[in-house]
Amino acid sequence: MSRRFPTLRSWTGGAAGLTLAALVVVELSRRGEEVAVPAPAASCVTTRPSRAITSRAMTVLCDDVYAEAGLDARELDDLRRAREEAGRSLRRVFGTQRSTPLVLFCRSAACKAAFGAPSSAAAADDLGFASAEVALDDGSVAPSAVVVTGPVSGTARILTHELVHAEMKAWAPYDAIPTWFNEGAATFVANEPACDPARPPSDVDVTSLTTKARWQRHLQASGKTRETYCAARAQVATWMGRFETDALRGEALATLLTSVAKGTRFDDALDAVR
Ligand SMILES: [Zn+2]
Repeated sequence: MSRRFPTLRSWTGGAAGLTLAALVVVELSRRGEEVAVPAPAASCVTTRPSRAITSRAMTVLCDDVYAEAGLDARELDDLRRAREEAGRSLRRVFGTQRSTPLVLFCRSAACKAAFGAPSSAAAADDLGFASAEVALDDGSVAPSAVVVTGPVSGTARILTHELVHAEMKAWAPYDAIPTWFNEGAATFVANEPACDPARPPSDVDVTSLTTKARWQRHLQASGKTRETYCAARAQVATWMGRFETDALRGEALATLLTSVAKGTRFDDALDAVR
């Protein structure tokens, strides 16, 4: 298998082989020695009755996780595994998570459209997005929800990408962080979309795509969606390269987001984290 992206491989390799059933997980401390920390809860478990979303034909898979109705047992198992894999990927970066978005798995375009996907994109099998205003049957509205295509081969990675956005947003408002960094960080952590390091870098300065509007205008005008995500990822990877371990990278990201949330200009905060 080709070596896609050395930085990411070392990033994602840290917790390989650990299972959620373990009582403790071993992580590297700041100084590099191994320390035992309590294992986080499994990502797809049922511990309580969940509120239903019958208006959009979603069945409950486990706590805070829903699947489009009509999937068979194997497909539901695939989705459970995808949820757990995405949870592990996220925990490698954000040890303590602040976000608890509902996860909504949709296989059909109609399901994605029902949660707000534009008709031009709803059929894509790599689509994931945040959905506002997901109403539950008890009349409450979920404060945060992500919609992910699944089950498809990329479901775990697509979900990881969306969960990174949700988590970063819980540390600092989305618009306080330049869009290229939001997208680059989500792409870097999730390896989604996948990037080929052999391809020449995009000739666009992605760091000029600071707002969602500019980002989307650029994607529409250029048609270079993957290249743009990968260029943003490369920028974030360069910054992440300052830090040697997964733990230090996660800490650096948390420090950056906290600093911006307190009012520091993003560029200053980015330079200051060392
Ligand atoms: Zn994204």
